[in-house]
Amino acid sequence: MKIVAYRLNGRSGVGLVSADLQHVQPFDLPEAQSDLGAQALIEMQARGDTLPALLPALALHEVQIVAPLPRPRRNIFCVGKNYFAHAKEFAGSGFDSSAKSGGDIPADPIIFTKVPESVVGPGAAIEMPAVSMAIDYEAELAVIIGRGGKGIAAKDAMAHVWGYTILNDITARDWQGRHQQWHMGKSFDTFCPMGPWLVSADELDGTKTGVRCYVNGEERQNASTADLIFDIPKLIETLSAGITLYPGDVIATGTPVGVGIGFKPPKYLQAGDVVRVEIDGIGSLENPVR
Ligand code: MG
Repeated sequence: MKIVAYRLNGRSGVGLVSADLQHVQPFDLPEAQSDLGAQALIEMQARGDTLPALLPALALHEVQIVAPLPRPRRNIFCVGKNYFAHAKEFAGSGFDSSAKSGGDIPADPIIFTKVPESVVGPGAAIEMPAVSMAIDYEAELAVIIGRGGKGIAAKDAMAHVWGYTILNDITARDWQGRHQQWHMGKSFDTFCPMGPWLVSADELDGTKTGVRCYVNGEERQNASTADLIFDIPKLIETLSAGITLYPGDVIATGTPVGVGIGFKPPKYLQAGDVVRVEIDGIGSLENPVR
């Protein structure tokens, strides 16, 4: 199934997207739950509850699609340098505070987080902050946790995956480099475009799907999640070793080669640009830069 969150006539809704992507069938949910997007539905399924009744379908073009988890219940987990070619381009950029001489490929996953308030939906503007001159895009497959847990073994991890969405891990490179810890430069307001909807794991094999990014129509990134250094089971095993994972947790799996910092000179985002991230089996996430 595909679950979309939206606004219509000043109210939040969450619904099932039809196979032809033309309609949405809203779930009969209280407003307070609809405001959190797919969160309540993921929790219900994790408990084994049946989903709420469906209301009559609406045309998808009539609603304003928002992020499927507009305010995740806690920080978004993110993975740094998780594709081989990107690890090399970033280590060579001069902005990589984690780079070690002689070793571009991390021995263990590099984990950082973005604050929930950085999330915006499809079509929402990525706001250029006055305090950075080096704003970059990062196309990523995001994993959505279904059933939570702690100490999840890699061999059992995929059973904890509810599904997937598209995430653009927007980054202020100068802040990422200068402040050592990546959290601030990754968490500016509007720096986490997400959407357009969630796709359940029975509909998409996230372990081998295509990830692409375009800026003003120019292809910048094009890779497969099969090239991840640390695969999804390994990421879940690592994160859950000491941190309990909960339904609705988001894990951004890292970005492939082709980010702006990898070009000489760098191709940073500018006001007026349009960034589009595509993932096979999900769709596309497009955001203007303002
Ligand atoms: Mg990233």
